[in-house]
Amino acid sequence: MTPTEFEALPLAAPLQRVLRELNYNTPSPVQAQAIPLLLLGRDLLGCAQTGTGKTASFALPILHAIHERPRQIRPRTCRTLVLAPTRELAGQVGKSFSTYGQHVRFKQTLIYGGVGQNPQVSAMRGGVDVLVATPGRLLDLIDQRAVDLSEVEFFVLDEVDRMLDMGFARDVKRIVSLLPPNRQSLFFSATLAPNIVELAQTILRNPARVTIDPGTTTAERIEHQVCFVDRDNKRPLLEQLLRGQAAATSGKLTIVFSRTKHGANKLAKSLCEAGFPADAIHGNKSQAQREKALEKFKKGLTPVLVATDVAARGVDVKDVGLVVNFDLPNEPEAYVHRIGRTGRAGAEGRAVSFCAEDEREFLREIEKVIKMPVPRWDDHAWHDESLADRHLRMRTGGGMVQGGGNRGRQGGGGNRGGGGGNRGGNGGAGRDYSNASGRNNRRGPASRA
Ligand code: AMP
Repeated sequence: MTPTEFEALPLAAPLQRVLRELNYNTPSPVQAQAIPLLLLGRDLLGCAQTGTGKTASFALPILHAIHERPRQIRPRTCRTLVLAPTRELAGQVGKSFSTYGQHVRFKQTLIYGGVGQNPQVSAMRGGVDVLVATPGRLLDLIDQRAVDLSEVEFFVLDEVDRMLDMGFARDVKRIVSLLPPNRQSLFFSATLAPNIVELAQTILRNPARVTIDPGTTTAERIEHQVCFVDRDNKRPLLEQLLRGQAAATSGKLTIVFSRTKHGANKLAKSLCEAGFPADAIHGNKSQAQREKALEKFKKGLTPVLVATDVAARGVDVKDVGLVVNFDLPNEPEAYVHRIGRTGRAGAEGRAVSFCAEDEREFLREIEKVIKMPVPRWDDHAWHDESLADRHLRMRTGGGMVQGGGNRGRQGGGGNRGGGGGNRGGNGGAGRDYSNASGRNNRRGPASRA
């Protein structure tokens, strides 16, 4: 049985208190399933992505254990190691630990590349309860004997699919070989492809398995639409959407996804020239540049951020009202991650994807993964009906049913303020998970329009 209220979970008083303060009443499906198992000391194989509440699902039980069993920490060691693929995600996880652990006495630090290592070495000198790290810099510091993993009690591998995509498999294996055998290990991935399960088997001991179907989480919560357009018409269509955002009263920030770093730079530059303050973040930018761009974005100084997939990981900005997939991702899972950048923490959100002729196959793969057609938005001047038709024929050949056009949302206005749906009713910063019990509640986002 899974609990429907946080109060039913045997979490320590300082955690119950922070959950009340954050207005988190109902555990998300991944939390309801994972937290009781983790409190029992089980290893966990979790198939869930960002936006499902997975960070709290591991941070809360770990903080509980730290609170209940405080102990002296030896120099350079850590009780908890969380490995994350990117510095942005590591920062995000660190922030979540600080938030959820604000009434718990514990020490934590972050280790990631792209910045000077001295503050990280100093922070590790006295040892910490929680270390959140990216693999490369962590190994550097281990080799310099600035970090010692021999006392890790809790090991979390977050976003393993991304970690492997980024070529960290060897680093991860080396890090695992340095951990003590007697530990609790948690493994989270958005997909469980055979190579990922194989890696999990070498790390986990008799793990409990928790699977959150992406089709019942992000893809259903967010209003997402696809526009069939010629490649050359993507720019004017984007400008139309951005004008709608600029006129919006809330949720003004927009993230535009580009498949390549070069494309991101080019697009940001030309948007600036067209009067839309924009900045680009991608893997070729320094950490300082990325942080500065994110700060300016969060403050609304540059309300458009053009990003590649890797750089956008871990970007948890509450006021993102619109995500535009200027290019469709060639990996279907990335679609779910991308659209999860909007609608954070109970906010309203919309995601619009542009599909040109050569991207139809990507769209088909995405629709297979999310197990629903992406509702189409064709009420704009650049709609390419014959392209839409070809996609529909290809898809219905594959057995799916088209939800029809979606004409109610032109110019970014629409019914944004209408509430409804299964979000927004909890009156606070938290997301309302009370309707999302993990059953297959397959109400398409189009029905909200
Ligand atoms: P995550 O998947 O961990 O990135 O979490 C997604 C967002 O949901 C974060 O902004 C959290 O603050 C929020 N959140 C996580 N768990 C809950 C919950 N049980 N109730 C409301 N909001 C939550």
